[in-house]
Amino acid sequence: MTSLNGKPSSLIPDFDKLSIDERLRHVERFAGLSEEDMQQLRAPSNLDRELANHMIENMVATIAIPVGVATGLRIDGEEFLVPMATEESWIISAVGNAAQACHDTGGFTTSASGSCMIAQVQLLGLTNPHSARIAILEKRNEIAAECAACDPTLTRFGGGFHDLEVRILGEGADAMVVVHLIIDCRDAMGANTVNTMAERIAPKLQAWTGGRPALRILSNLADRRLVRARATWIPEALGGEAVRDAILEAYRFAEVDPYRAVTNNKGIMNCVSAVVLATGNDTRAVEAAAHGYAAASGRIRSLTKWEVAPDGALAGSIELPMPVGLVGGAVKIHPTARALVAILGVKSAEHLGRIIAAIGLAANFAALKALSTHGIQKDFMAHHARNFAIGAGATGDEIDLVARSLVERRSISTAAAEQVLAEVRKSR
Ligand code: NAD
Repeated sequence: MTSLNGKPSSLIPDFDKLSIDERLRHVERFAGLSEEDMQQLRAPSNLDRELANHMIENMVATIAIPVGVATGLRIDGEEFLVPMATEESWIISAVGNAAQACHDTGGFTTSASGSCMIAQVQLLGLTNPHSARIAILEKRNEIAAECAACDPTLTRFGGGFHDLEVRILGEGADAMVVVHLIIDCRDAMGANTVNTMAERIAPKLQAWTGGRPALRILSNLADRRLVRARATWIPEALGGEAVRDAILEAYRFAEVDPYRAVTNNKGIMNCVSAVVLATGNDTRAVEAAAHGYAAASGRIRSLTKWEVAPDGALAGSIELPMPVGLVGGAVKIHPTARALVAILGVKSAEHLGRIIAAIGLAANFAALKALSTHGIQKDFMAHHARNFAIGAGATGDEIDLVARSLVERRSISTAAAEQVLAEVRKSR
């Protein structure tokens, strides 16, 4: 079928039931893809196509993202190499440099608040929300037993029902009762786990209160699952007290200005999300939780805090929600994620989360130091020059030659890269 603008229709009956190759042929026809595009989409990767096909719907291809390893991480007295999946240059070496600058003076110290997630059940149509609230709180033991029956495996691993909260939001006819099931998810991220429990409890809540259950879903504001890290950098490792003070000034900017705070936290999440992705976890869940937590006071603030320790060292700390798992979701299915988790050698989701907190703190240190001294473009563009070189068509050893030349000329652009590449090729 052809649409009005001459393109084939995007309505493709039973697209999900077709084979991957049949789907690709539809996409090829629809978008008029070249043979080169098709070869690229069919190219094998370290994620088997059949496995990928089972992971999502309408799967047609996989896309590879580079994975690097940040070095020099000393966390709670142990050494770590941390895998990071990212398309962004500069950030892995930046984390490594920040970690190395505090490695010999103690590295990072981390902790966590627990591994609880919240499932919300919204109850509507109640004229007596206060009585309903009390009636639900009376059923705490029954609710705990329902949750345990819902997921005996989780109970076996020491998790399950942890607490119950009942909130009343709005007033009068608009009032709603919102039940929070607080579930210890242990090594699971827990979204599916707690959603199942919320759906199971909802009819009971209706029977006890007469309220109509509406939404039954986890909250991504995972503030019962915080990870924390702290570290100090002595002035000699920073380039002196002036650099320390410049970092503090840069931090204060993020504390008072939302325009800066969002960028500050985005820089932290560059590195946090890279580890979350490498370990097969849900980057959107961690990002939503982090940004929500940063704005918990009513105004978005830095996820990190920076101050001066009594000995004059720069003291940094970070606290953010970390809904990550080592079982469930893609974590256990994706063979590359499993291998990357093996590099870390962590045995619990909480430990993984604490390492990610240290990475977030290192990321912020690196960004603030670069921004408050020579600016970020010098380092960033030096790395980015390689992308310009590749974009201009450089291959093999041409990439480094062109990138170096672009940095030396202080002219990093597509036109400059094309010119340098032409010169390199001519001189050979
Ligand atoms: P899951 O249901 O696949 O696995 C969790 C289950 O693993 C537990 O319920 C438990 O029965 C079992 N388990 C085995 N060993 C365990 C251990 N040591 N600790 C804890 N549990 C253990 O996965 P999940 O973690 O419930 O859900 C994660 C997935 O849900 C992610 O892929 C996420 O993207 C997705 N998701 C997210 C949202 C959201 O964030 N809003 C919503 C829906 C789904």
